[in-house]
Amino acid sequence: MPLPILLLAWFPPSLIPAAARVPRYKVTQAVPAAKRVALPEVRGDDDRPLVVIDAGHGGVDPGAVGPDGLREKELTLRIAREIRDGLLAGGRVRVALTRDDDRFLVLRERYGVARRLKANLFISVHCDAAAASTATGASAYTLSEVASDKEAARLAARENKGDVIAGMNLGQARGDVSSILIDLAQRETMNLSASFARLLGREATPLMPVKANFHRMASLMVLKAPDMPSVLFETGYISNPVDAAFLASDDGRDRVARSVRRAVEAYFARRMAAR
Ligand code: ZN
Repeated sequence: MPLPILLLAWFPPSLIPAAARVPRYKVTQAVPAAKRVALPEVRGDDDRPLVVIDAGHGGVDPGAVGPDGLREKELTLRIAREIRDGLLAGGRVRVALTRDDDRFLVLRERYGVARRLKANLFISVHCDAAAASTATGASAYTLSEVASDKEAARLAARENKGDVIAGMNLGQARGDVSSILIDLAQRETMNLSASFARLLGREATPLMPVKANFHRMASLMVLKAPDMPSVLFETGYISNPVDAAFLASDDGRDRVARSVRRAVEAYFARRMAAR
């Protein structure tokens, strides 16, 4: 029998040096959030207001998955591009996308990119999901500490999970608090966000399936910028075959883009008039 084992067996545990008892190895894991993301391209004429469109999810985060395997991250990117093209065709605003490919961004990076670009409006594009395949229609969310209803609370819980990949919370790598505290300075921004959400409901209603209570409120992390009006647009249910087919069709995406373009143009026309 080899000598070291004899020694360990003979000495009482308190006499064995600590270093010999503790396994010495370290697990390291690369965290993508550590790098500051590059700013995306801004398109459009210089002096126009800037709208940042955020295609929800991406990369390792597929978002919700439809019954036929359609992934939210793919739909949101296609819809975001259509919205961008529609807005640029209108010529009234400049547009940037937080992502124009299949990449992962933590929620803070999404509104962070828009703030660094000094965006005047931020629209995060998503597709809803529910256990009941009959759930249908688009809705728009603005920031509130208190959810407007149970479904809004469930949606916030799901969408805020975008930062948690394989059990690691990438969004809070630098010690952010998890709760969303709303400053009084945010009130003006919240009012502007709500006014855009109402305009979006008005413009979307004749063009696409929308919920009866279109504008809702929830504590959504991606809407947290204190100084930039922000809306999360749930364009329809990926879990509903009819909604999913609508959003996957050219005509459906064109209708979503037209709704957003009309609402954006009305919103900035009002803002100019108010000055
Ligand atoms: Zn989503």
